[in-house]
Amino acid sequence: MSTTWVNWGRSAVAHPSAVLRPSSTEEVVELVREAAAVGRRVKAVGSGHSFTSIAATDGVMVEMTRMTRVLHADAATGRVRVEGGLPLRELNRLLDALGLALPNLGDIDHQTITGAVSTGTHGTGGRLHGISKAVVGVRLVTGTGEVLDLAEGDDLFGAARVSLGALGVVTEVVLQCVPAFLLHAREEPMALDAVWEGLDDLVDGNDHFELYWWPHTRRTSTKRNNRVPAGTEPRPVSRARHLLEDEVLSNGAFGAICRVGTAKPSWVPAINRLNARALSAREFTDRSHEVFCSPRRVRFREMEYAVPREAVRDVVEELAAFVDRSGLTVSFPVEIRFTAADDVWMSTGHERDNAYVAVHQYVQRPFAGYFAGAEDIFTAYEGRPHWGKIHTRDAAYLGKQYARFDDFLAARDRLDPERTFANAYLDRVLGP
Ligand SMILES: Cc1cc2nc3c(=O)[nH]c(=O)nc-3n(C[C@H](O)[C@H](O)[C@H](O)COP(=O)(O)OP(=O)(O)OC[C@H]3O[C@@H](n4cnc5c(N)ncnc54)[C@H](O)[C@@H]3O)c2cc1C
Repeated sequence: MSTTWVNWGRSAVAHPSAVLRPSSTEEVVELVREAAAVGRRVKAVGSGHSFTSIAATDGVMVEMTRMTRVLHADAATGRVRVEGGLPLRELNRLLDALGLALPNLGDIDHQTITGAVSTGTHGTGGRLHGISKAVVGVRLVTGTGEVLDLAEGDDLFGAARVSLGALGVVTEVVLQCVPAFLLHAREEPMALDAVWEGLDDLVDGNDHFELYWWPHTRRTSTKRNNRVPAGTEPRPVSRARHLLEDEVLSNGAFGAICRVGTAKPSWVPAINRLNARALSAREFTDRSHEVFCSPRRVRFREMEYAVPREAVRDVVEELAAFVDRSGLTVSFPVEIRFTAADDVWMSTGHERDNAYVAVHQYVQRPFAGYFAGAEDIFTAYEGRPHWGKIHTRDAAYLGKQYARFDDFLAARDRLDPERTFANAYLDRVLGP
């Protein structure tokens, strides 16, 4: 009897024929071999935080909830080996206790380490990279049930970091961490034109710079996070202010605003103008993961594309013009982040300095028209879609965006010759 699986964004549904929860690499080998022997498909799933159907399957769904241990940690070298199902939230706390941290993180910490790495999850930082760059080794159970340990220097390692769940079940990950650090956060509203004028200084002059542009306005909310010298006293946001600003304003009130915008779309531009001013300037200093990650309680759908960094202004201005002429109303701000080029084959950052432009729509509102218009703009600038966020690209398009695409396909042929890990999403983005 099949069960129903739904992702966080309510944009992907699956009916796996079975759900298994292995507790060791040996159990994963056994289940992969058994499934492959009868031609059943297998799909490991993380926390279901991808908006695409990348984790969906009608075969055997492998939940990694019993493989969440830290297996080895060396505080001196910063190398840490963990099981593939460990949620980032727990990983961050465990690393902190060891005096370590990941060099960069995204907005939330609900994903599992392998789920996050497999789709190229990233934060922001013009000199920094996505989470996959911190991965220095993986243990993988391939489609034939073979256990492979891949590390830097191995042929297939470039494929195994951002692997889209296509090469096998990752049972262990080795991370190169950095010493734990504090971030000083400065958040303030800025005019969009002022951001464009000072963009290079903002991106290059801060460790982590990002902005949220409010559609229907020329206003943004900006965030600058910078490392502070060891020994600096943390000055976190007080509990009362956290409750007011992060829970009530950012989540509670924003949820209410989205509901009002759904009932009265014509009010959205005025609400956005208010919102852009309501989130006032603030500064605080806290542990890196506390600053990077915050709760997202308002459910939404998202599309995000990486575009060449130098194109970001044109892309966002075209998006603004499209929103204005389309008659669409959009409550969610557009998030804009930056990363440096990396060497991970299927990373959106592969050999390119990027800006990321992310469009969101409240879960109760239609998103197709908005996202289609945005995607036309992103793809005109050689955009690379986030593998875990809504997009319509196929292998023909993606093959042109990634210099190592054919090498990745060859790795897939070698590691999963019978396509035990395939699903409809992978058929589209990689081919059968
Ligand atoms: C509210 C929200 C905020 C987000 N913020 C950001 C952000 O700031 N930056 C960003 O880049 N992205 C962000 N994302 C996207 C998210 O980080 C990615 O979609 C990520 O892949 C989700 O991880 P997960 O653990 O939920 O994995 P899932 O979505 O469950 O799975 C993702 C992929 O990983 C594979 N996988 C999972 N575990 C294994 C395993 N053990 N072995 C092999 N394959 C495996 C799955 O098969 C699938 O292919 C956000 C998403 C949401 C919903």
